[in-house]
Amino acid sequence: MRLHAIQTGSVRIKTAQVEGHGRGLRRRLGIFTDRNWTPWLPSYAWVIEHSEGVIVVDTGQGTHLLESATSMHPYVRWEVAFRIEREQEIGPQLRARGIGPRDVRRVVLTHLHCDHDGGLAHFPETEILVSRGELQAARGWMGRVRGYLPHRWPSWFDPVPLDLTAGPYGPFAASRRLTTAGDVVAVATPGHTRDHVSVVVEDQGTTFFLAGDTSYDERLMLAGRVDGVSADDDVAGATLRAIQHLANERPTVYLPTHDPESAARLERRSVVAPEVSPMCPEWTRR
Ligand SMILES: [Zn+2]
Repeated sequence: MRLHAIQTGSVRIKTAQVEGHGRGLRRRLGIFTDRNWTPWLPSYAWVIEHSEGVIVVDTGQGTHLLESATSMHPYVRWEVAFRIEREQEIGPQLRARGIGPRDVRRVVLTHLHCDHDGGLAHFPETEILVSRGELQAARGWMGRVRGYLPHRWPSWFDPVPLDLTAGPYGPFAASRRLTTAGDVVAVATPGHTRDHVSVVVEDQGTTFFLAGDTSYDERLMLAGRVDGVSADDDVAGATLRAIQHLANERPTVYLPTHDPESAARLERRSVVAPEVSPMCPEWTRR
Protein backbone atom coordinates (compact mmCIF):
# COMPACT_ATOMS: atom_id res chain seq x y z
CA MET A 1 0.00 0.00 0.00
CA ARG A 2 1.19 3.52 -0.78
CA LEU A 3 -0.20 6.73 0.62
CA HIS A 4 0.25 10.13 -1.06
CA ALA A 5 -0.44 13.68 0.10
CA ILE A 6 -1.63 15.90 -2.75
CA GLN A 7 -1.69 19.62 -2.08
CA THR A 8 -4.55 21.25 -3.95
CA GLY A 9 -3.66 24.92 -3.49
CA SER A 10 -3.89 26.74 -0.21
CA VAL A 11 -6.33 28.54 2.03
CA ARG A 12 -6.24 31.15 4.72
CA ILE A 13 -8.79 31.69 7.42
CA LYS A 14 -9.11 33.64 10.63
CA THR A 15 -7.00 32.50 13.58
CA ALA A 16 -10.20 32.25 15.65
CA GLN A 17 -11.38 29.51 13.29
CA VAL A 18 -8.24 27.45 13.80
CA GLU A 19 -8.38 27.73 17.59
CA GLY A 20 -11.67 28.75 19.13
CA HIS A 21 -11.84 31.07 22.12
CA GLY A 22 -14.49 30.62 24.77
CA ARG A 23 -17.41 28.27 24.26
CA GLY A 24 -20.57 27.91 22.26
CA LEU A 25 -21.93 30.75 20.17
CA ARG A 26 -19.29 33.19 21.43
CA ARG A 27 -16.57 30.88 20.13
CA ARG A 28 -18.33 30.56 16.76
CA LEU A 29 -18.95 34.27 16.31
CA GLY A 30 -15.32 34.98 17.13
CA ILE A 31 -14.39 34.24 13.51
CA PHE A 32 -16.36 37.28 12.36
CA THR A 33 -14.75 39.73 14.80
CA ASP A 34 -11.21 38.38 14.47
CA ARG A 35 -8.98 40.51 12.24
CA ASN A 36 -6.07 38.08 12.25
CA TRP A 37 -5.49 35.80 9.30
CA THR A 38 -3.51 32.57 9.39
CA PRO A 39 -0.60 32.17 6.99
CA TRP A 40 -1.51 30.38 3.76
CA LEU A 41 -2.25 26.78 4.76
CA PRO A 42 -2.21 23.74 2.46
CA SER A 43 -5.39 21.92 1.49
CA TYR A 44 -4.44 18.27 1.12
CA ALA A 45 -6.26 15.43 -0.56
CA TRP A 46 -5.06 11.87 0.06
CA VAL A 47 -4.53 8.96 -2.29
CA ILE A 48 -4.37 5.38 -1.03
CA GLU A 49 -2.88 3.03 -3.62
CA HIS A 50 -4.35 -0.22 -2.31
CA SER A 51 -4.29 -3.72 -3.80
CA GLU A 52 -8.11 -3.56 -3.92
CA GLY A 53 -7.97 -0.33 -5.93
CA VAL A 54 -7.17 3.33 -5.47
CA ILE A 55 -9.11 5.21 -2.79
CA VAL A 56 -9.08 9.03 -2.74
CA VAL A 57 -9.92 10.75 0.54
CA ASP A 58 -11.23 14.29 -0.05
CA THR A 59 -10.85 16.04 -3.39
CA GLY A 60 -9.37 19.35 -2.22
CA GLN A 61 -9.91 22.73 -3.77
CA GLY A 62 -11.07 23.70 -7.26
CA THR A 63 -10.41 26.90 -9.21
CA HIS A 64 -14.08 27.91 -8.83
CA LEU A 65 -13.20 28.84 -5.22
CA LEU A 66 -11.33 31.87 -6.55
CA GLU A 67 -14.80 33.41 -6.99
CA SER A 68 -15.41 33.23 -3.24
CA ALA A 69 -14.55 36.92 -2.83
CA THR A 70 -17.80 37.81 -4.64
CA SER A 71 -20.01 35.39 -2.72
CA MET A 72 -23.22 36.61 -1.07
CA HIS A 73 -22.43 34.46 1.97
CA PRO A 74 -20.68 36.50 4.68
CA TYR A 75 -18.36 33.68 5.74
CA VAL A 76 -17.38 32.67 2.21
CA ARG A 77 -16.91 36.28 1.17
CA TRP A 78 -15.07 37.76 4.14
CA GLU A 79 -13.62 35.00 6.32
CA VAL A 80 -11.78 32.69 3.92
CA ALA A 81 -9.50 33.09 0.89
CA PHE A 82 -8.12 30.55 -1.58
CA ARG A 83 -5.18 30.07 -3.91
CA ILE A 84 -5.43 27.39 -6.57
CA GLU A 85 -4.37 26.95 -10.19
CA ARG A 86 -5.94 24.51 -12.59
CA GLU A 87 -2.89 22.24 -12.63
CA GLN A 88 -3.06 22.04 -8.83
CA GLU A 89 -6.51 20.46 -8.87
CA ILE A 90 -6.55 16.80 -7.96
CA GLY A 91 -7.31 15.46 -11.45
CA PRO A 92 -4.14 16.79 -13.13
CA GLN A 93 -2.04 15.83 -10.12
CA LEU A 94 -3.34 12.24 -10.18
CA ARG A 95 -2.62 12.01 -13.91
CA ALA A 96 0.93 13.25 -13.26
CA ARG A 97 1.33 10.26 -10.94
CA GLY A 98 0.03 7.88 -13.60
CA ILE A 99 -3.42 7.53 -12.01
CA GLY A 100 -6.33 8.19 -14.36
CA PRO A 101 -9.83 9.04 -13.07
CA ARG A 102 -11.04 5.55 -13.99
CA ASP A 103 -8.30 4.00 -11.88
CA VAL A 104 -9.90 5.44 -8.76
CA ARG A 105 -12.26 2.91 -7.23
CA ARG A 106 -13.74 5.16 -4.58
CA VAL A 107 -13.72 8.71 -3.33
CA VAL A 108 -14.50 9.23 0.35
CA LEU A 109 -15.27 12.73 1.64
CA THR A 110 -14.58 13.56 5.29
CA HIS A 111 -17.18 16.31 4.97
CA LEU A 112 -18.58 18.60 2.27
CA HIS A 113 -16.86 21.91 2.99
CA CYS A 114 -15.78 23.54 -0.26
CA ASP A 115 -12.04 22.94 0.21
CA HIS A 116 -12.73 19.19 0.47
CA ASP A 117 -15.30 18.70 -2.29
CA GLY A 118 -13.81 21.20 -4.76
CA GLY A 119 -12.29 18.51 -6.98
CA LEU A 120 -15.40 16.37 -7.41
CA ALA A 121 -15.66 17.27 -11.11
CA HIS A 122 -12.65 15.03 -11.79
CA PHE A 123 -14.51 11.88 -10.70
CA PRO A 124 -17.67 11.57 -12.82
CA GLU A 125 -17.47 7.78 -12.98
CA THR A 126 -16.24 6.97 -9.50
CA GLU A 127 -18.28 5.78 -6.53
CA ILE A 128 -18.34 8.67 -4.06
CA LEU A 129 -19.09 8.08 -0.38
CA VAL A 130 -20.40 10.82 1.91
CA SER A 131 -21.87 10.38 5.36
CA ARG A 132 -25.64 10.52 5.16
CA GLY A 133 -26.06 13.29 7.74
CA GLU A 134 -23.37 15.43 6.13
CA LEU A 135 -25.12 15.21 2.77
CA GLN A 136 -28.42 16.26 4.34
CA ALA A 137 -26.76 19.22 6.08
CA ALA A 138 -25.01 20.41 2.93
CA ARG A 139 -27.69 20.22 0.26
CA GLY A 140 -30.23 22.81 -0.79
CA TRP A 141 -30.76 26.32 0.48
CA MET A 142 -30.13 25.39 4.08
CA GLY A 143 -26.78 23.98 3.01
CA ARG A 144 -25.94 27.33 1.41
CA VAL A 145 -26.98 29.15 4.57
CA ARG A 146 -24.61 26.90 6.51
CA GLY A 147 -21.76 27.91 4.19
CA TYR A 148 -21.68 24.85 1.94
CA LEU A 149 -21.58 25.32 -1.84
CA PRO A 150 -24.03 22.67 -3.13
CA HIS A 151 -24.70 24.80 -6.24
CA ARG A 152 -21.07 24.16 -7.24
CA TRP A 153 -21.40 20.37 -7.13
CA PRO A 154 -21.28 18.70 -10.55
CA SER A 155 -24.80 18.10 -11.91
CA TRP A 156 -24.22 14.33 -11.79
CA PHE A 157 -23.19 14.37 -8.10
CA ASP A 158 -25.23 11.64 -6.39
CA PRO A 159 -23.04 10.13 -3.69
CA VAL A 160 -23.57 6.82 -1.95
CA PRO A 161 -24.61 7.54 1.65
CA LEU A 162 -21.92 6.32 4.02
CA ASP A 163 -23.51 4.79 7.11
CA LEU A 164 -21.07 3.91 9.86
CA THR A 165 -22.94 0.86 11.05
CA ALA A 166 -20.09 -1.46 11.95
CA GLY A 167 -19.89 -0.39 15.59
CA PRO A 168 -16.86 0.91 17.44
CA TYR A 169 -13.36 1.04 16.07
CA GLY A 170 -10.93 1.56 18.96
CA PRO A 171 -12.09 4.71 20.73
CA PHE A 172 -14.46 5.73 17.91
CA ALA A 173 -18.12 4.90 18.43
CA ALA A 174 -19.00 4.06 14.84
CA SER A 175 -17.09 2.85 11.82
CA ARG A 176 -17.22 1.11 8.47
CA ARG A 177 -14.60 -0.84 6.56
CA LEU A 178 -13.72 0.57 3.18
CA THR A 179 -11.66 -2.45 2.07
CA THR A 180 -12.34 -6.16 2.33
CA ALA A 181 -8.99 -6.51 4.07
CA GLY A 182 -10.27 -4.16 6.78
CA ASP A 183 -7.13 -2.03 6.68
CA VAL A 184 -8.91 1.14 5.52
CA VAL A 185 -11.75 2.16 7.83
CA ALA A 186 -14.03 5.21 8.02
CA VAL A 187 -14.60 6.31 11.62
CA ALA A 188 -17.05 8.82 13.08
CA THR A 189 -15.29 12.01 14.18
CA PRO A 190 -18.14 14.45 14.88
CA GLY A 191 -17.24 18.02 15.77
CA HIS A 192 -16.07 20.27 12.96
CA THR A 193 -19.31 19.15 11.32
CA ARG A 194 -21.86 16.98 13.05
CA ASP A 195 -21.35 14.02 10.70
CA HIS A 196 -17.66 14.46 9.93
CA VAL A 197 -15.74 11.24 9.28
CA SER A 198 -12.03 10.43 9.25
CA VAL A 199 -10.29 7.57 7.49
CA VAL A 200 -7.88 5.21 9.26
CA VAL A 201 -5.27 3.37 7.19
CA GLU A 202 -3.33 0.52 8.80
CA ASP A 203 -0.04 -0.25 7.12
CA GLN A 204 2.81 -2.36 8.48
CA GLY A 205 2.11 -1.67 12.14
CA THR A 206 1.55 2.04 11.69
CA THR A 207 -1.85 3.73 11.74
CA PHE A 208 -2.30 6.70 9.40
CA PHE A 209 -5.15 8.94 10.49
CA LEU A 210 -6.57 10.97 7.60
CA ALA A 211 -8.18 13.47 9.90
CA GLY A 212 -10.01 15.89 7.63
CA ASP A 213 -10.72 18.93 9.81
CA THR A 214 -10.90 17.27 13.25
CA SER A 215 -8.27 19.88 14.10
CA TYR A 216 -6.17 22.21 11.98
CA ASP A 217 -2.88 20.79 13.25
CA GLU A 218 -1.43 18.17 15.57
CA ARG A 219 -0.68 20.56 18.44
CA LEU A 220 -4.35 21.57 18.68
CA MET A 221 -5.44 17.92 18.72
CA LEU A 222 -3.01 17.14 21.56
CA ALA A 223 -4.11 20.25 23.44
CA GLY A 224 -7.78 19.29 22.95
CA ARG A 225 -8.55 22.76 21.57
CA VAL A 226 -11.85 22.95 19.72
CA ASP A 227 -11.91 25.00 16.49
CA GLY A 228 -14.09 28.04 15.83
CA VAL A 229 -16.74 26.33 13.69
CA SER A 230 -17.69 23.19 15.61
CA ALA A 231 -21.32 23.34 16.73
CA ASP A 232 -20.88 21.52 20.05
CA ASP A 233 -17.88 21.96 22.34
CA ASP A 234 -18.39 18.66 24.15
CA VAL A 235 -18.82 16.58 21.00
CA ALA A 236 -15.77 18.11 19.32
CA GLY A 237 -13.71 17.75 22.51
CA ALA A 238 -14.65 14.07 22.81
CA THR A 239 -13.47 13.43 19.24
CA LEU A 240 -10.10 15.05 19.99
CA ARG A 241 -9.77 12.87 23.10
CA ALA A 242 -10.63 9.77 21.06
CA ILE A 243 -7.79 10.61 18.66
CA GLN A 244 -5.44 11.09 21.64
CA HIS A 245 -6.51 7.64 22.90
CA LEU A 246 -5.80 6.08 19.53
CA ALA A 247 -2.36 7.68 19.41
CA ASN A 248 -1.63 6.41 22.91
CA GLU A 249 -2.61 2.90 22.05
CA ARG A 250 -0.72 2.48 18.78
CA PRO A 251 1.84 4.27 16.60
CA THR A 252 -0.28 6.85 14.80
CA VAL A 253 0.64 9.35 12.10
CA TYR A 254 -1.86 12.21 12.42
CA LEU A 255 -2.68 13.90 9.11
CA PRO A 256 -5.06 16.88 9.21
CA THR A 257 -6.04 18.46 5.89
CA HIS A 258 -4.57 21.89 6.60
CA ASP A 259 -1.56 21.08 8.80
CA PRO A 260 1.58 22.45 7.07
CA GLU A 261 3.50 19.50 8.59
CA SER A 262 1.19 16.74 7.31
CA ALA A 263 3.07 15.89 4.11
CA ALA A 264 6.46 15.73 5.86
CA ARG A 265 4.95 13.68 8.67
CA LEU A 266 3.57 11.18 6.16
CA GLU A 267 6.90 11.03 4.31
CA ARG A 268 8.84 10.31 7.52
CA ARG A 269 6.05 8.21 9.06
CA SER A 270 6.37 10.46 12.13
CA VAL A 271 4.01 9.19 14.82
CA VAL A 272 2.35 11.26 17.51
CA ALA A 273 4.87 11.25 20.36
CA PRO A 274 3.33 9.12 23.12
CA GLU A 275 5.06 11.11 25.88
CA VAL A 276 3.29 14.24 24.62
CA SER A 277 -0.22 12.87 24.36
CA PRO A 278 -2.07 12.77 27.68
CA MET A 279 -2.69 9.43 29.34
CA CYS A 280 -6.31 8.51 29.74
CA PRO A 281 -6.65 5.77 32.36
CA GLU A 282 -10.45 5.83 32.32
CA TRP A 283 -10.46 4.49 28.82
CA THR A 284 -10.33 0.72 28.73
CA ARG A 285 -8.41 -0.92 25.95
CA ARG A 286 -10.55 -2.97 23.61
ZN1 LIG B 1 -14.05 21.96 6.98
